[in-house]
Amino acid sequence: MIIRARAVVTMDGPPIENGAVAVSRNRIIDVGKFPEISARHSGQQLIDLGEQVMLPGLINGHCHLDYTCLRGQIPPKKSFADWIRAINAEKARLSTQDYVASIAEGFAEAKRFGTTTIANLTAFPELSARIDPPIRTLWFAELIDVRSPERANELVDLAVESLKPAANWGLAPHAPFTTSKNLYRRCKEVARRENVLLTTHLAESHEEMSMFRDGAGPLYEFMKEIGRDMSDCGDQTPLDRFLGTVRDSSTPKAFGARNDKKAVRNDAGWIVVHLNELAESDFELLETFRSKFHVVHSPRSHDYFAHSAFAFKRLRDLGFNICLGTDSLASNENLSLFAEMRAFRRGVPAVSPEEALEMVTVNGGRALGRPQILGRIRANYVADLIAIPCSGITDVFEEILAFEQPVQWIMVNGKT
Ligand SMILES: [Zn+2]
Repeated sequence: MIIRARAVVTMDGPPIENGAVAVSRNRIIDVGKFPEISARHSGQQLIDLGEQVMLPGLINGHCHLDYTCLRGQIPPKKSFADWIRAINAEKARLSTQDYVASIAEGFAEAKRFGTTTIANLTAFPELSARIDPPIRTLWFAELIDVRSPERANELVDLAVESLKPAANWGLAPHAPFTTSKNLYRRCKEVARRENVLLTTHLAESHEEMSMFRDGAGPLYEFMKEIGRDMSDCGDQTPLDRFLGTVRDSSTPKAFGARNDKKAVRNDAGWIVVHLNELAESDFELLETFRSKFHVVHSPRSHDYFAHSAFAFKRLRDLGFNICLGTDSLASNENLSLFAEMRAFRRGVPAVSPEEALEMVTVNGGRALGRPQILGRIRANYVADLIAIPCSGITDVFEEILAFEQPVQWIMVNGKT
């Protein structure tokens, strides 16, 4: 089929006025000016979207749909440790059925806002079999062993069993303060064996920095209280702790060499979420990386927690691939990546609307390990497309970022 629109934003150069995309099954096979596309693919069914701009479906690099039902339930807290206590109390009230409903509601909302790919962390990987996502989904099992480090391997293996039937999955050891070194190592082993992605929360809050660097603060006290082994605290940053865990002797080049495909798929493939708290020594370390992990920033969740400023420019200039995610609705108001882009630009106005859009398309595709098929409108990419009204009066990227309505036209994997 051929889909025509007033403008097509391919993420491969300027928007194409009076553009069209040819789609066969689930793939884009051609893109260009409408007259050329219709000449090259004559006799195909035509969908004319009229006065709209077509763009790649948006990619949410990080969220927890488990907690869609907690929207507005937890007011911001002074302490991050208190926030964790509050969400734990809310979680204790939820049943399996609540979680299934919450995840399904989250998928529907993400799709309404034009998201066609989502990296969804779930604390209940066994529930993935009960849900048929309406959008492209990478299921990540979120793993925490802070109360039971002796069960690290078992927890990982159970999660793998649950997620293996899913088309796309990965592992999410939660964060250095809740996840033992053994659990990180086991996740790494499995990721190498199964060729899947890894993601983790890192250096999110000032309290996490105080815990690891100073061996003090509310998060330190909380973790100590619940029985965590605190011997890794007092002389390192959260980044040091993470690298000490994932850069073991069996992979001396982790984050270093990225020359072969295997390295890309394995060690350099971490998706690191947050990275708000970095010491100068961390930046010195990051500068030495020949290849980089991917970074997800969640601007509205960041504002909700009033975290330290995210060092966008420094990280970008060091060559890190940075994408956006909504995080969960326990710390955000909705799952709109349009709103996320707007919030991001409020904090970093020097970023152009086009660069902000890259963060939820091209950069998201790279982070999720599918740069050859996700995030652009280009031949051989998957047919994940959205369209929104466009007046043509102002810059098309400005118009895209200003969009606040539910998305009316959406194609996922070649199906509208
Ligand atoms: Zn998160």
